[in-house]
Amino acid sequence: MAAGQPGMRPPWPGGTGDPGGRIAITGARLIDGRGGDPVDDAVVLVEGSVIAAAGAGAEVPFDRDAQVLDAAGATLMPGLIDGHCHLGGASFPDEDRWVLEDDRYQAIASAAQARQLLQHGVTSVRDISVNGTRLRTAIARGLIPGPEIVPCWRGLSRRGGHGDARGVPPEMVSTSHPWGLVADGPAEVRAAVREVVKQGGQCVKVWASGGGLHENEPEDVQHYSLRELRVIVEEANYARVPVAAHCECAAAAKDAARAGVWSIEHGEDLDEETIGLMAEKGISLNPTVVLLTQWLEQSSVFGGPYGKPYVPGVTELPADPEAIRTLLHDRLSENLMAAKAAGVRIGVGSDSYCADLTPFGLQTLNEVHALVAAGLSEMEAIVAATRSGAEILRIGDRTGAIEPGKAADLLVLSADPLAGISGLARENMVLVMKAGQVVTSGL
Ligand SMILES: [Zn+2]
Repeated sequence: MAAGQPGMRPPWPGGTGDPGGRIAITGARLIDGRGGDPVDDAVVLVEGSVIAAAGAGAEVPFDRDAQVLDAAGATLMPGLIDGHCHLGGASFPDEDRWVLEDDRYQAIASAAQARQLLQHGVTSVRDISVNGTRLRTAIARGLIPGPEIVPCWRGLSRRGGHGDARGVPPEMVSTSHPWGLVADGPAEVRAAVREVVKQGGQCVKVWASGGGLHENEPEDVQHYSLRELRVIVEEANYARVPVAAHCECAAAAKDAARAGVWSIEHGEDLDEETIGLMAEKGISLNPTVVLLTQWLEQSSVFGGPYGKPYVPGVTELPADPEAIRTLLHDRLSENLMAAKAAGVRIGVGSDSYCADLTPFGLQTLNEVHALVAAGLSEMEAIVAATRSGAEILRIGDRTGAIEPGKAADLLVLSADPLAGISGLARENMVLVMKAGQVVTSGL
């Protein structure tokens, strides 16, 4: 919800926030999302939808009229930001079934997916789906609970690419694909970007490489040429919207970086030159570690439906599935740490797209945990999930940190995530607040 909108009292049960009220949350350890040392015994004063003051208790003026929430012993941090999800309402991890599934059912199911994200402390997302632009409006009007949505609407896929579907007629893909828009060649990709903008997209998603849904679109194959990517970026720039590029191979990532995209999604195969370009141009990375690991387990070696497992940069895979899993973990970790060492901004992307495989909200939390398992410190993973995420969504001027003037998007946890990132869990969230409104509270 945009900060400062009056009259947004939520009609759903459990929403008790009062936009006109003043709430003082006292006694918590404050992690403000900017990466500095935490502040103990802090006070955060919320006025309406925004943070009026935050800091050590002694420095925040006592507000006699505020409702006081005693959070002694707990930890307060910004709400989470998920830079990559698909609120398409899909039930199944299958490209034909997600097109065939009833569009109206999916629209309704997408509202439940949005609610699940918020219930897990996710207060902002960047969404790639046909529903996101409408969900954004319904959430901003207070009709349904959910995170603030930065919508990409549908993403650009080449014919037979990751956003197409092979087993259904092309007309059905164009009317009913929950997140893909097929476009080939400079003229079509330019028109497709214009369509995304027309539909309310605030970012343009493009599948620059395959994604392994089918043997004819493996991850290590580039899908759009540098020329096409340049047209996409140029046209998006005319509309002042950024481009997010799905890149699972080195060649696609390099051309996406050359073309000047804003973020690289997945990006598990970045070479030195690409990392250098990303650092130089300020291109962010959403690593989606959990999704890539799940995807490996969807491959034939693990009994899944998707053919050969993909471990970037490795041609000869070991026979033992456990050894393949370890190899992928090591490759993803090395790649992530190389990007981090070069100063590339890292975000959190769940890639949640269907209820079956990638549970909304839980997957976001698991991704934060996975970033720590891959080598980030707890604080670095929290910054990725908060301030960096807000910057990637280009909403860093109004959320992503606990500081005066920002939206009161925050969590209070009964466990300290700096002492162990697994403390960042739904069962430990004693308070979830979005734009000053209480989503859940045990305080
Ligand atoms: Zn995705």
